[in-house]
Amino acid sequence: MNKLVVLGSVNADHVLQVASFPRPGETLHGHSYTVIPGGKGANQAVAAARLGADIAFIASVGDDSFGLDIRQAFANDGINIDAVMVEENTPTGIAMIQVAATGENSICISAEANACLTPERIAPHHALISDADTLLMQLETPIDTIEQAARIAKQANTKVVLNPAPAQALSDDLLQLIDIITPNETEAELLTGIKVDDTQSAQQAADALHQKGIPVVMITLGSKGVWLSENGQGVQVEGFRVDAKDTTAAGDTFNGALLTGLQEGKSLHDAIKFAHAAAAISVTRFGAQTSIPHRREVKHFLL
Ligand code: ATP
Repeated sequence: MNKLVVLGSVNADHVLQVASFPRPGETLHGHSYTVIPGGKGANQAVAAARLGADIAFIASVGDDSFGLDIRQAFANDGINIDAVMVEENTPTGIAMIQVAATGENSICISAEANACLTPERIAPHHALISDADTLLMQLETPIDTIEQAARIAKQANTKVVLNPAPAQALSDDLLQLIDIITPNETEAELLTGIKVDDTQSAQQAADALHQKGIPVVMITLGSKGVWLSENGQGVQVEGFRVDAKDTTAAGDTFNGALLTGLQEGKSLHDAIKFAHAAAAISVTRFGAQTSIPHRREVKHFLL
């Protein structure tokens, strides 16, 4: 059994560079088309595995070539793929991403096989969750499955960590099952109604999440690091300065690395520093899973 279990999405990111975004009805030429492995669940699982965590992944891929290949790639990264299910006659989840010359992106995702990750489909894998130390989830798979997995974890004393991305409103029933939540500023605002733009508002948002029953709140602040609040005591943990090229999967790398650090027994503060280093390396590179560093790189970065 694995100490960390990630439950979440797998996507093929179809990325096209464009001079500017096409208007409705317009056709433009793009260039440098690539297909990059992505999906928040997969990115976080890969980050944890590359950084040395003992990890299993619960997910659904399609029976297309991308789905079959990426499942094998997860295994090559050291992930237990027993619960990475292959759905017949179903495409793997996709993200269609256009990146403009300004660096802005425009993204449309379709769940496809990710929508097959129902409570019934994860039933054979409950033991993976209950035997683990920690369960890490995001919000790109069906919400009733996320709630079910959180309940199983809670009953078994498995710690529940939620990265509430992409932003969506959540029930109080789910929030009270969470031990650590890691929203970015936008997600924190959506969950609390408090706009996070300084340390005071970050603490107010954290307090609102504590009131929902969540003991540890980490609001990620991009290049400014993280606002960490434990039971109402808040502190900013600064990130690292790097020449950022593409922040895709920065949050995912942060979450996978954070859980790896905690699994090794690091304090919250030290695990955040470790996660900042991994995420900082990822923003200097292009793409999602292509940008996630291995442990030796983080070690070298921290020298
Ligand atoms: P994304 O959606 O781009 O994956 P996010 O919005 O979920 O990211 P952020 O708050 O932007 O999350 O960033 C998460 C972490 O990534 C930060 O706490 C920090 O460690 C790192 N990070 C993000 N942007 C930068 C940057 N420009 N320079 C250094 N580190 C960064």
